[in-house]
Amino acid sequence: MSQIVVAVDGPAGSGKSSVSKAAAAQLGFGYLDTGAGYRALTLTALKNNLELDSVGELDLVQIFPYEISTDPANYFVRVGDEDLTLGIRSKEVELNVSRVAAQPKVRAFMREITRSIANGCKSPGIIVEGRDITTVVLPDAKTRVLLTASEEVRLGRRSVDLQSDGSISAQVSDRDKKDSKVVDFLNPAPGVLLLDTTELSFEGSVSALVDLINR
Ligand code: C5P
Repeated sequence: MSQIVVAVDGPAGSGKSSVSKAAAAQLGFGYLDTGAGYRALTLTALKNNLELDSVGELDLVQIFPYEISTDPANYFVRVGDEDLTLGIRSKEVELNVSRVAAQPKVRAFMREITRSIANGCKSPGIIVEGRDITTVVLPDAKTRVLLTASEEVRLGRRSVDLQSDGSISAQVSDRDKKDSKVVDFLNPAPGVLLLDTTELSFEGSVSALVDLINR
């Protein structure tokens, strides 16, 4: 296991993925994007015409040979021979991922995958980001951070990420609403540090996260 485990949670558009990745690169740490697993499983289900709301009942080890890079300089997501790095960012995946992530069997499967990847990472440290990392997946992480920003700022950041078609704000809020029924990633659990990036630039957010980790 990497010696220093850092858990970062936060809502869509908080910047947690890009900030965590940049902080990991700066520190020489690994980086693990856990949302990618839920997205890749959703895309796999869509491609194979599987029933999205009961995908957790299937043999996930069998149907989902998942691989993700923890190198912040060389990020990729694969399922079997297929590279899904770009495909998992599609609108169809965004619209459906919460249905897949709501299933307890899917969450248990992803929790084990995440722990096993974090365990196998050879870097001196790893930053693992998602929604339930500080609370459920890695509650014993050395540093636990909830990274947020005001809703207005989050929506603005997100519309830069995605191709703006006017419906993105509604989609992001809707996804957060659905996701927060399953996991609370809007309020820090006891012992979890709150990093509010509303007033911070991207570089400022990365420095603030690095400072918390170095503390
Ligand atoms: O972080 P990202 O936006 O890529 O996450 C995609 C989706 O994966 C979220 O909307 C949520 O449904 C799910 N997710 C989750 N738990 C995590 C990470 C992501 O439920 N730890």
